[in-house]
Amino acid sequence: MLRSLFIAAAGSSRLERLVESAPVSKGLARRFVAGSSADEALRVSRELADDGLAVTLDHLVEDTRTIEQAVTVRDEYVSLLGRLRDSGLTPAAEVSVKLSALGQRIDEKLAREHAHAICAAAAEAGTSVTLDAEDHTTTDATLETLLALREEFPNTGAVLQAHLRRTEGDCRELSTAKSRVRLCKGAYSEPESVAFQSALDVDKSFVRCLNILMSGEGYPMVATHDPRLIAIGEDRARWFDRSTGEYEFQLLYGVRPDEQARLAAGGHTVRVYLPYGEQWYGYLMRRIAERPAGMGFVAKVVTSR
Ligand code: FAD
Repeated sequence: MLRSLFIAAAGSSRLERLVESAPVSKGLARRFVAGSSADEALRVSRELADDGLAVTLDHLVEDTRTIEQAVTVRDEYVSLLGRLRDSGLTPAAEVSVKLSALGQRIDEKLAREHAHAICAAAAEAGTSVTLDAEDHTTTDATLETLLALREEFPNTGAVLQAHLRRTEGDCRELSTAKSRVRLCKGAYSEPESVAFQSALDVDKSFVRCLNILMSGEGYPMVATHDPRLIAIGEDRARWFDRSTGEYEFQLLYGVRPDEQARLAAGGHTVRVYLPYGEQWYGYLMRRIAERPAGMGFVAKVVTSR
């Protein structure tokens, strides 16, 4: 109930104005978002690097509706990658990109060109790009773009969502040498025809996919906060004899920081997904929706409307 309220709140511009104007919510946002500018993103990336954590930076964009907006997003990533290189944060820092933010819904070819420009900037900076997964209607197009980009930039990362029924097959196809694949549960609400609906079925699919990726030739990126799945990830890495540098764990900034530190101290590569940007409201609401309890002020504003 609270979860769906927060998901609905993520799309409300009236609530957005209310929450954004309250100083306390800026404090809450800082727990999950590096800040609104690239300067702040670089500062937090440095702090995480000092703690032995790699990052993947995400420039938060809620809705790209025009070509001009898509070009602005592309330019932001290109500039960010130059700054990461100049600050000595690459290769440990990479970027995560949503094709929708680059204009996929307006013009697919253009979004691909923008992604190509970002991959070229990443290559120049000595690092890589991961293409975030969005809702299932975009999976085919995103994977096609991925394969096209990999011809020139083979280290471009894919994201596969365990809740989709097709994902086991996608894991097999993408489990090739050096193929970087982030496995997550999947954040989008999907119909039963394409996605497992129960948490147990999603978890079981996650483990099947993990087995394929860990036993394959690629580079699995295990993206979850789920203690049981993390333990299975650690077990499979041992079982399939993968040493540090042959897989990694990924967690969101601000979520289970103690676990991030524990994994890093245990010799695993840990990458923190670090969002930044002015449009932090929708992202914050989705994080709160995952665990609404204890979010005091924002919960009060949302439930009183
Ligand atoms: P959940 O099912 O949310 O939680 C399982 C258990 O984990 C909980 O019962 C609890 O024990 C523990 N837990 C979870 N959250 C917390 C918390 N805040 N504090 C303490 N314990 C907690 N989704 C996409 O669709 N596309 C993407 O490109 C994408 N990229 C991602 C990248 C990263 C690095 C990560 C971590 C997630 C990404 N996701 C993406 C989101 C993902 O699909 C899930 O929606 C999200 O991670 C929640 O699932 P979970 O595996 O963490 O477990």
